[in-house]
Amino acid sequence: SIPLSFYGGIGGASRNGILIKGGNYLETLAKTQTVVFDKTGTLTSGSFRVTEIKPAGEMTEEQLLRYAALAESSSTHPLAASIRAAYGKEIDRNVVANVTETAGRGVSAEVSGRVVLAGNAKLLAGEGVAVPAGVPAGTAIHVTVDGSYAGYLRFADTAKPNAKKAVSDLKKLGIKHTAMLTGDAEAAAKLTAEELGIDSYRAGLLPQEKVSGLEDIMATFGGSSTAYVGDGINDAPVLSRADVGIAMGSLGSDAAIEAADVVLMDDDPAKVATAVRISKKTFWIVR
Ligand code: ADP
Ligand code: MG
Repeated sequence: SIPLSFYGGIGGASRNGILIKGGNYLETLAKTQTVVFDKTGTLTSGSFRVTEIKPAGEMTEEQLLRYAALAESSSTHPLAASIRAAYGKEIDRNVVANVTETAGRGVSAEVSGRVVLAGNAKLLAGEGVAVPAGVPAGTAIHVTVDGSYAGYLRFADTAKPNAKKAVSDLKKLGIKHTAMLTGDAEAAAKLTAEELGIDSYRAGLLPQEKVSGLEDIMATFGGSSTAYVGDGINDAPVLSRADVGIAMGSLGSDAAIEAADVVLMDDDPAKVATAVRISKKTFWIVR
């Protein structure tokens, strides 16, 4: 049977916009000593600004942006949304066909009959195209048209208003280690981790690499329980693997919300600390 105070804990959480899928997760949360975050959409707003458009060869800025925006016309990824916003024009979906999106890599599509790739260096490598030297560090999307390198777009994201508070509140609650696992570039990850006071991070990870990254953290710092907080399709496997998986409710993909044990309805990372606080209080009462 479930102690009565569990209901109080779950109710208190839900009044704070925190959905807990079962009483056992309250107990696991109360014992959590390590909290691992995804970056994009979890600690950062998930809305990027395009900071540079750099065509290669004969391509103009306008053409490069058009190819990227059309290839990304049906993606829900935050980078895709920011490319469409930078393009600013209406997108004729009739000229876009055969779209495939690969989590943690990017998209492939036919745009006006030409094969376009838009994604990171791993996506291009998979198609045998190398990214030229001299691309500045940070978040970038590379574009190829019919197998030729066509240039890149660079982006910057910003931390959510409560991201720093989330990390410091967790420390105050006795969380021993905070970490970040991201599919984004090393330089972008380093900036965010330093700005927010996160203890360790790993960048450039594919969904399965996030799982092994989490397992390494669990073995090294985990303690009695490890929580993972994420929002994207690429976070579903790692959300399932964590002792407690916490998903962003409105920004989050369906796969992430499904895989999670706890859902933050308003996407506020500081609510992770609220959830830990409520769980500890609940268990202090039970004991
Ligand atoms: P995070 O783990 O921080 O949430 P993601 O896994 O969502 O980041 O994205 C990781 C990387 O995968 C991005 O930085 C980008 O390089 C690439 N990527 C994923 N989806 C797309 C897309 N639709 N278009 C272009 N690139 C993408
Ligand atoms: Mg994310």
